[in-house]
Parts: sequence; structure tokens; C-alpha cells
Amino acid sequence: MRTRASIVSGAKEPWRTEEIELDEPHAHEVLVKMAYAGMCQSDEHLRAGNISAPPEVLSLLTAKGSMFPIIGGHEGAGIVEAVGDEVHDFAVGDYVASSFIPSCGKCVWCASGRGYICDLNATTLAGPMISDGTYRHHLGDEDLNRMCNLGTFSERVVCHEASLVKVDTGVSLRAAALVSCGLATGFGAAVDRAQVRPGETVIVAGASAPAPSRAHGSPGRPPSSPWTRSSSRSSGRRRSARRTVPRTSSRPRSSPPS
Ligand SMILES: [Zn+2]
Ligand SMILES: [Zn+2]
Repeated sequence: MRTRASIVSGAKEPWRTEEIELDEPHAHEVLVKMAYAGMCQSDEHLRAGNISAPPEVLSLLTAKGSMFPIIGGHEGAGIVEAVGDEVHDFAVGDYVASSFIPSCGKCVWCASGRGYICDLNATTLAGPMISDGTYRHHLGDEDLNRMCNLGTFSERVVCHEASLVKVDTGVSLRAAALVSCGLATGFGAAVDRAQVRPGETVIVAGASAPAPSRAHGSPGRPPSSPWTRSSSRSSGRRRSARRTVPRTSSRPRSSPPS
């Protein structure tokens, strides 16, 4: 089928919208009609060439040997339009949010609660389908990579079932799209990376989607709160309070995009 997608053809090239050819979903794949997609800074990092995998790595993962051309977008939500063979957890009409890190729920990492390093994540920057290493998105004769195995800057997306999270039907897909990256990234930056504790005071810098989420993940209390005064008597607490929330762009390569 034909659909439209925002593509970048090379590092530092501009985004451009093209009509592309989209194949039917194969086994373990799902076709989603996107309702919302957010522009994350990681998408701009991609366009600027800041998160390209080295050529020697790309050559191991994909015959293309390049991340480009690539459909942008890893944050979004939509409605399932079709499912391929062997898909048991999704059905036509399901509401879904994208997950920028696929999580199979079965590998040793997923089984030990570390789905963020799921084995299926190995080709995130390479672009072919996780299921069989081939492509479903094409611009003329050229195969298209997809940001984080998703490419949500497209009216319709075919992706692996492990890259989707089902949400309740009727839930705001606009809100679900934000949860799929920005909100989760901001909350995680405060809770996991900065390890902010109740009662601590933090400064949140920035106005992007993750910023207010960092505030949500920083469960501070008003200065007049007796609970805050009590916890601030601990010198250890005061030292912790001076920590700042790290920039998500400084995370190691193995971490999810922000
Ligand atoms: Zn897994
Ligand atoms: Zn993101």
C-alpha cells in the first residue's frame, strides 16, 4: 500500500515527506495506523548524524551498511489495522503505543526484568525488520530504515510486535504517544539516573517533553511541609539534593534514546 512518511536521506540532510510503498506485515509483525507521533531530540540527533552506528557495526547488522535513508520517529501511538502470522497479543482495532526499545518478554534480559537490553534491541540503529532482517518500507527501489525499528513519522507503520505496547481502548492516544518516550525518559532520568528521593529539591532545566516528566519523577514537597523539614535534617539528604538531573543525551550508547 502507499503511505506518506518523513524521511532523512543522509546526515545533516533536511527532513522531507515522501509517498512510500509499505508491505503487508509478515510473521510477528503488526500494521499500525498512527494517530500521533512526537518529535524527540533523538530524532534530531539522528538527522544531525550524532547517533550513527559505526560502518563496521552496520555492515554486520544490515546489507545496506548505512542508516540512511531512514524514516524518523520512535514516539507515537495508533490503532492496529492488520497483524501478521504468529501474532497472538494484538488484534485489529487495538490501541497501541510504540516502544523505542523492543522487549520480547522471553530472552534472559527480559526474563530478569531488564527488557531495556532485550536481545531484539541489537538492530535498533540498523533498521531492517527485527523478524527476518528484510524491509517493509520502500522509496522507489530503495529500502528504508526506521528510527528505533519504528519510524513513527509515517501515516502507517509496520513493526515487530515486540515494539508495541497495548493500551486500553478509549485511552487518549495523544497521551499514550507521550508516554512512549518523552514521559518515560524524563521520569526515568529523575528516578533511576539521578535517584531523586522524596523531599529532595531539584532543578529541572528545559521545556521539552521529558522536562515536566522529570518533575513528576522528583517527588518534592513545599518548603513548609513538616515532612520536608524532617528529612532535610539529614546531612546525607542535603548532599543528595545537590545532585542535578543528568542530560539524557549524555547517556551511554546502550541506553534508550530520549
Ligand atoms: Zn527480550
Ligand atoms: Zn525519544
